[in-house]
Amino acid sequence: MKAMVMTRVCDLRKDRNPLELREAPKPEPRKGEVLLKVLACGVCHTEIDEIEGRTPPPGLPVILGHQVVGRVEDTGVGVDRFKKEDRVGVAWINSACGSCPFCLSGRENLCPDFQATGRDADGGYAEYLTVSQDFAYTIPEVFTDVEAAPLLCAGAIGYRSLNLTGLRDGQRLGLTGFGASGHLVLLMARHKFPKTRVYVFARSGKEQQFARELGAVWTGAPDDKLPEKLDAVIDTTPVWKPMVEALHNLDAGGRLVVNAIRKENSDQDCLLNLDYPTHLWMEKEIKSVANVTRRDVAEFLKLAAEIPIRPQVELYPLGEANRALLDIKERRIRGAKVLRVS
Ligand SMILES: [Zn+2]
Ligand SMILES: [Zn+2]
Repeated sequence: MKAMVMTRVCDLRKDRNPLELREAPKPEPRKGEVLLKVLACGVCHTEIDEIEGRTPPPGLPVILGHQVVGRVEDTGVGVDRFKKEDRVGVAWINSACGSCPFCLSGRENLCPDFQATGRDADGGYAEYLTVSQDFAYTIPEVFTDVEAAPLLCAGAIGYRSLNLTGLRDGQRLGLTGFGASGHLVLLMARHKFPKTRVYVFARSGKEQQFARELGAVWTGAPDDKLPEKLDAVIDTTPVWKPMVEALHNLDAGGRLVVNAIRKENSDQDCLLNLDYPTHLWMEKEIKSVANVTRRDVAEFLKLAAEIPIRPQVELYPLGEANRALLDIKERRIRGAKVLRVS
């Protein structure tokens, strides 16, 4: 099968084609696994973190991609949840131990043995992949293959982030960064919290305009001053400065939820500008979002189908995954990037 394979950790700005289109062995489904023919796979900023070594795969070569929509082509022994031809999704959570205190308390996203699709196991930048039936999801009919792909990470982790804010209807929500996840959170927030006003901080004018089209009441640059304080902010940027600005913009008792697997260290020194009374006092909180649970993915797919959320997608052929990653790195963003595999 054809696959875009990661063979090295590198700086994407200098080494602009880190993934290689290769012939790889077609995987075979083991006990409890399904073999999927990949239809579409979303492209996520986390893949850049893997390539640049901030969350490197434990072994190379590896096939990236954790927002996979595929059709069941074969099933291993004991598979009873899916049959051939079913349309199935695979998300970032590839497995968890099932027996640790985190797994047993509904927090399998925090499991010490958490394994990620497209990092610890081969992912969807390929024509086929295998996955345990317990970590696969039926894709609602209402979505096309390419629409469904970004729901599996950008959407699901956005859903988790929005839940972690503890927001109530009518409270004010800020979004810093407006990529794949941000635009889905905005659509979700408008549905779940119709009285909530959403403020979007984005660097590019195009992202700001896109946010206004989707219903943001205010848009501005990351360091623009806001007309009012916010009850919660979700940060999806890869850097630190927006966090400092967000803490400044939070009202008393407000919460900043940081949805980023890693932060780049380019502007880390701006943390020295943190001023306790301005940024932290008055019970302001910071909470990071780590991974997703299967429940997040399943609940979000259901909600997204009800609304329905229609992600805005830009399509790339499998062989042009490097270009899709560079477009994210260099912020040519409008919605979500998706590889159309077959
Ligand atoms: Zn992702
Ligand atoms: Zn566990």
